[in-house]
Formats: sequence, structure tokens, C-alpha cells
Amino acid sequence: MSRVYNFSAGPAVLPEEVLREAAEEMLDYRGTGMSVMEMSHRSKAFEGIIKEAEQDLRDLMNIPDNYKVLFLQGGASQQFAMIPMNLMKNRVADYIVTGQWAKKAYQEACIYGKANKIASSEDKTFSYIPDCSDLPISQDADYVYICENNTIYGTKFKTLPNTKGKTLVSDVSSCFLSEPVDVTKYGLIYGGVQKNIGPAGVVIVIIREDLITEDVLPGTPTMLKYKIHADHDSLYNTPPAYGIYICGKVFQWLKKRGGLEAMKVYNEKKAKVLYDYLDESKLFHGTVRKEDRSLMNVPFVTGNTELDARFVKEAQAAGFENLKGHRSVGGMRASIYNAMPVEGVEKLVAFMKKFEEENL
Ligand SMILES: *Cc1c(COP(=O)(O)O)cnc(C)c1O
Repeated sequence: MSRVYNFSAGPAVLPEEVLREAAEEMLDYRGTGMSVMEMSHRSKAFEGIIKEAEQDLRDLMNIPDNYKVLFLQGGASQQFAMIPMNLMKNRVADYIVTGQWAKKAYQEACIYGKANKIASSEDKTFSYIPDCSDLPISQDADYVYICENNTIYGTKFKTLPNTKGKTLVSDVSSCFLSEPVDVTKYGLIYGGVQKNIGPAGVVIVIIREDLITEDVLPGTPTMLKYKIHADHDSLYNTPPAYGIYICGKVFQWLKKRGGLEAMKVYNEKKAKVLYDYLDESKLFHGTVRKEDRSLMNVPFVTGNTELDARFVKEAQAAGFENLKGHRSVGGMRASIYNAMPVEGVEKLVAFMKKFEEENL
């Protein structure tokens, strides 16, 4: 068996310890005589798994009691609709468009009400985060929406927008649990787990209780109401049980590593290895305004598409997988989530240096 360094943006690398543990428990989960995939979601064993996962997430993020944690399906993309369906009481919401995912969320919200694009960085291929200190927030906006870490472009909000008292809704799919967060600053935080937490199929929603009401847009399907899932502790119907189980293991792994403070230190150190090299390299350079750089997704280019393609190919042959940039941007992108060890980035940089020497 040999494992590669996987720089995929998602589904992405998971901690090896977690995968080993899951493998050990595959045939017989703790004396139940069955795998977690085979057990009833109403069983005592699974009840333990989901309760413990929720508690560990609450501990990691310091989630206050007046927020619910929901384990849902449909990916982050389903939240693009679920958010307006549940929160657009006035049918008005403000969107800050900093990439493709924010844009898709904005376009979806336009179906349900008046979505206002109050800021955008599309003029420069989403390579920066706009100044959000004094935006024209709509008086009757039900919420202000951001995508906090832009997976495709590699930008991150370092300060949250001034929402002038309006509820902040944030897509944290690609920066989930990468550093501490002050949950009280948000009305709703959500993310698909396949970027930085677990296997595809689970989306986690952390929502302040006062936002969970029966008062949703007419025609909202039962399955798309936050209230139904909150009232049933994410067990209204069969949840993505195995995915939740793996997420729970990742939460424990993060706790063992010292929680989110420690992850932030580690992630900063790891990203610095790559960014420092990009800043000094004569061949490669980063594509994002420095102050807006993401710790999780690092896009870079040589400026020559043929050379980019050759780099991706040679890197793959050397055991560095999934470095090709998103199809909408080109170039390269290294996603260096929590589970990517710093050695992976150091080895990548060593490989890039060698490539630079050979091709300059
Ligand atoms: C990947 C991603 C999505 C889409 O996730 P799906 O689970 O595939 O719907 C949305 N937002 C961000 C920030 C992402 O990185």
C-alpha cells in the first residue's frame, strides 16, 4: 500500500489515523457485530455516534447553547436554496459575491426574492476580498451572505463584513474547523464536509435558534425546513449515518491535536512554507492579493499554460496528486486542508524548486 500526497480541493485528504480506525471497526463496530453502514439510525450505537459527534463539534467550535447543529444532506449547494426558503421573511437578502460558489448562491436566492449583489470581486477574477466595512446593506435585508473561504480562487475573509446589525450567513465549506471562530457573530454557518472534515454526503448547519421557525416561504418542502430537522435532532429521516460517523472521528482527531487554536498555528505554518516559496520563486507565483490569501487553497501559475500542464503531469508522477487548478481558473491549486501534513507541503515545495531549476 502506498498513499500519495493528495492536494484535491474536495473530496479531499482525510487523517490517516481516522481511516485506519474506521477500517478496524468496519466489520464489527464496538461489539455490535455489524458495521456502522449496516446499523439502524435509531439504534443505541448510532445514537451514541451522532450525540458524541455533535458534542465534540460544540466543544471544538465553542458553539453556544442557543445554536442548533444539524447534520443534513444535499451538499452545500442545497443550502443555496434552503437558506432563502427558510430565512427570507421579507424576501430580501444581500450577497457578497467573491467567487463561483457565492455567485451560485446568489443566483439561487434570486429565484426566491430580491437578492442584492452588494459587493463583488469579479472585476479581477475574484482574486481579492472587497472592502466590506461600509456596504450598502438593505434596510429590510433578512440576512447578509458570504462565502468565507473561496475554494476555487484561494481567498479568505480575514475580517467579517460589517452587516450593520443584519444576520450574517456564511458558507465555510472549505475553511470549516481550520481555525477558531466566534459563532456568536453569525446567524447561520454551514459547510459541506467533504473539503475539510469528512466524506461527501454530509452538510453541517449551525443555526441560531431564533432563525428556526415555521414561517418559511410557501411551497418549501418538508425536507428543506430547518425546523423539521432541528425538532428531530437530525433524525427526521435516515441521516447520512456513515458520513456522520467519520466526521465524529475527525472531530476527535482534532481534539487530540489541541483543537482549533492548535490547528490554526499548524495551518499557518504549513501555508507559509508554500507562500514564502511562491513569493521568492522566479517561475511560480500566487494569483491572490497577499492580505486575502487562504490558508486552505493556494492557487498558483507559471504564466505559461503548457508549462503548467507539464508541471501538473510531472508532479503527479512524483506522487503529488490533484494539483490542477479549477477548470475556470487554470494553472495549479494546492488544497492544504487540516489533514495535509506539513511534510506534504515541504516535499511539494522541494519538487517545485527542482522543476524551477530545470525549466528556467
Ligand atoms: C465545494 C463547495 C461548495 C459545493 O459543495 P457541494 O457539497 O458539492 O454542493 C459550496 N461552497 C464552497 C465554498 C465549496 O467549496
